[in-house]
Amino acid sequence: MIPHVKVQLGKEEEDRVIEVLRSGMLAAGSYVQEFEDEFKRCHDSQYGIATSSATTALHVIVEAMGIGAGDKVITTPYSFIATSNAILHAGATPVFADIDPVTYNLSPTALERAVKDHPEAKAVIVVHLFGLPADMDEILEIANKNNLLVLEDCAQAHGAMYRGKKVGTLGRASAFSFYPSKNITCGEGGMVLTDDPVIEEKIRILVNQGQRRRYYHEMVGYNYRMTNIHAAIGLEQLKKLDLYNQKRIENAKFYDDHIVNPCIQKPVSPSDRKHVYHQYTLKVTNRDALTAYLDANGIGYGIHYPLIMPAQPAYKDIATCSGTWPVAEDLANCCVSIPVHPALSQSDVTTIVEVLNHYR
Ligand SMILES: *Cc1c(COP(=O)(O)O)cnc(C)c1O
Repeated sequence: MIPHVKVQLGKEEEDRVIEVLRSGMLAAGSYVQEFEDEFKRCHDSQYGIATSSATTALHVIVEAMGIGAGDKVITTPYSFIATSNAILHAGATPVFADIDPVTYNLSPTALERAVKDHPEAKAVIVVHLFGLPADMDEILEIANKNNLLVLEDCAQAHGAMYRGKKVGTLGRASAFSFYPSKNITCGEGGMVLTDDPVIEEKIRILVNQGQRRRYYHEMVGYNYRMTNIHAAIGLEQLKKLDLYNQKRIENAKFYDDHIVNPCIQKPVSPSDRKHVYHQYTLKVTNRDALTAYLDANGIGYGIHYPLIMPAQPAYKDIATCSGTWPVAEDLANCCVSIPVHPALSQSDVTTIVEVLNHYR
């Protein structure tokens, strides 16, 4: 069985974790700050704030922007649920604009239409889905024209680049995830990047129970802090990010070059971007048949995602969730992600190609 996801942790992570355990500094600690510093440094960003997850990072970003009850935030219908939940957690309402059929990311044309329909919208959350940067120049232009704040959900795109710039530095603030399936992991964890000192200060306070000074709470905050244990793992993982991404890119290139099957549509990566292949997602007309075939041939896969966000049962009472998003709905019915993680061997990827090429 070739697994769809495989976490790679080495002696470096082990040693650091043991060091933290022996130090007794389990919660706050020097590794949290070191991880923030390293992460922001490799992004050339002014501020990095470590959080307990990308979900909590996104939530405090939205809140720190002053967005809350009665406000609208535009986003893609095609992402992990945390993207739009963050809007709801902050008390605001998500508005969904359809995706582009080539990149599977937020379509600038659909964004423009959503802004016309909801001129009061305050922000847009862009997701760099599967590791592919969204059409940022077009999106930033529409956002600037319409006074929309741009937030980036980079949970699947550590190290991805758009026209020479790393994602996470293109909007007002960004969120990263270190969940085990992501390009690097801490176990659970997240990071906010921003160049805005006002946002940074608010987020620092919000993630730490609304306090600047211990037991003096100036806001109703949260415990969204990262622990020293998680940061220790993250620091070691960050050193391996480029290597891991390179391996993902090589695996994807092998699939690009060798998967040839008229029933299978491969993902596309525009040449002005560095795609870091959090997922390598195929489109097939008869997904049930392909997944049964993959099961029979011992190849792991994932369905990202079977249901678009506005169609989730949890969203059934939200007025902005009635409508159609045909491009996203079509992808939700046809997508299958195959293993692309850095632990795959040459024989694994060769097997996967052979199996897919024999599929009828
Ligand atoms: C994983 C993911 C999140 C949430 O990350 P957590 O760290 O698990 O909270 C948010 N957005 C996207 C696009 C994701 O893939």
